[in-house]
Amino acid sequence: PPDVEQLGRSTWTFLHTLAANYPERPNPTQQTETRQFMHLFSKVYPCWVCADDFRTWMSTSGNAPRVSNRDEFGQWLCEAHNAVNVKLGKKSFDCSRWEERWRTGWKD
Ligand code: FAD
Repeated sequence: PPDVEQLGRSTWTFLHTLAANYPERPNPTQQTETRQFMHLFSKVYPCWVCADDFRTWMSTSGNAPRVSNRDEFGQWLCEAHNAVNVKLGKKSFDCSRWEERWRTGWKD
């Protein structure tokens, strides 16, 4: 079975990097495909309890993927990651800083 912690760190790196490189003005196809990707991701992620809980979270009112532009998608992923942080008793991340963490780099 996979190492759930190592898999999680690598996967969050991938997902936030995906958001950091998502277009500022995505066309309708890009938006549809990104929504489909997150939907399929939540079915194939090879930590099944993680995937089940993530699917349940995404299907809760207000938590559907927001893909209208880079900042929306980055904020949504940050909220998704925070939902997992809360579940695991980890600290919440300040989502106003997601781009600083994953795209432009910390200033200090
Ligand atoms: P991680 O949570 O992996 O975070 C990596 C880095 O991301 C952090 O160091 C921080 O710099 C940054 N970061 C933290 N929070 C945010 C945020 N909100 N937005 C942007 N950047 C942030 N593990 C379980 O044990 N049970 C589960 O049910 C579970 N479900 C998961 C569901 C998904 C979809 C994924 C991708 C992972 C899941 N994991 C789960 C793994 C878990 O989230 C962590 O990846 C793992 O516990 C390692 O945690 P970490 O403290 O090293 O940092």
